[in-house]
Amino acid sequence: MHFQQNHKFNIKTKNIAVFFCLFFFLTSSSSSFFAQKRYTVVIDAGHGGKDPGNLGNNYKEKNIALKVALAVGNKLAKNKDVKVIYTRNKDVFIDLWKRGDIANHAKADLFVSIHCDSHTTSAFGAGTFVLGLRGNKKNLEIAKRENAVILLEDNYIERYKGFDPNSAESVIGLSLLQEENLDKSLAIASLIQNNFAFKLNRNNRKVKQDNFQVLRETIMPSVLVELGFLTNKKEGRFLNSKKGQDQMGNAISDAVLNYISNLKLNTVDTTIEIANSIEYKTQIASGKNKIPTKPYNFKGLKNVQRVKIGSFYKYYYGVTSKYNTAKQSLKQAKNKGYKTAFMVAFKNGEKISVQEAIKMQ
Ligand SMILES: [Zn+2]
Repeated sequence: MHFQQNHKFNIKTKNIAVFFCLFFFLTSSSSSFFAQKRYTVVIDAGHGGKDPGNLGNNYKEKNIALKVALAVGNKLAKNKDVKVIYTRNKDVFIDLWKRGDIANHAKADLFVSIHCDSHTTSAFGAGTFVLGLRGNKKNLEIAKRENAVILLEDNYIERYKGFDPNSAESVIGLSLLQEENLDKSLAIASLIQNNFAFKLNRNNRKVKQDNFQVLRETIMPSVLVELGFLTNKKEGRFLNSKKGQDQMGNAISDAVLNYISNLKLNTVDTTIEIANSIEYKTQIASGKNKIPTKPYNFKGLKNVQRVKIGSFYKYYYGVTSKYNTAKQSLKQAKNKGYKTAFMVAFKNGEKISVQEAIKMQ
């Protein structure tokens, strides 16, 4: 615990009572309370049970996908910041919609589906897919159906009350979320694909957008990996081997860990000078455009902060350590026309819920 280092923390007489409350609170609460955010990764081994997948060279896609999925999960589970959920960890049949459903209800941060390809030619190589834009409509429908609790991690309790999936405002929020998801999906996809191509020297079939059904069912950043072609003699043998499965598994898990540490860095960077403290901000906008944070670009709002996450920007107004001030800022932003603005909170640069932040103070 380093709360003493907080430059705003002065022990004055009036604060002593607060200090002792905080002290007892800290010592009595579980250590997980101050743990870093855990990232939930859902690993989806394609096919299973009555659906063997492709049978190139008499290999079974379902078995290879499962072995690689378990290799990825085992490696990720060693990291205390990662929670691993499998859609299947044995040879069972699972409906496509159910796979997305598992991830949606786990409020997963990332969904990785693992498959092997086949072709009538001797094609070979590894590729990684994200959902194409055409698939977004279905995705949006599911996001609406799953409602606010799953979607609005930032301030979901506050927002849940007023959330109307059919209102234009809420849908704009969802579209932004989709845009952000696509961005993040592309980020993790290229990390995986780079590992395949440059660490393992697999033939690089690159990151592509396509309309895979399993990706249409999820409402978080999601990718589908095609490890290679079982129909290709050499690649089939490689993918069916323990060595091949371990190597491909490592390439994926390394990429996921890299992706997660990038996510963390992007939030930590911006708040470094006020580390060890609670911060509230009003999120007024987000998108792909890098907009100078001048008041004339933000309806007159001053001191707007821009934070880059992947190739995506978030714009915050009213950075403050006080909840009441943050409420004022939110009101101001709404009055200026940022109707979908909402409050977010950070502790030590790590995003937490506003409710948690209030409890901690
Ligand atoms: Zn498949």
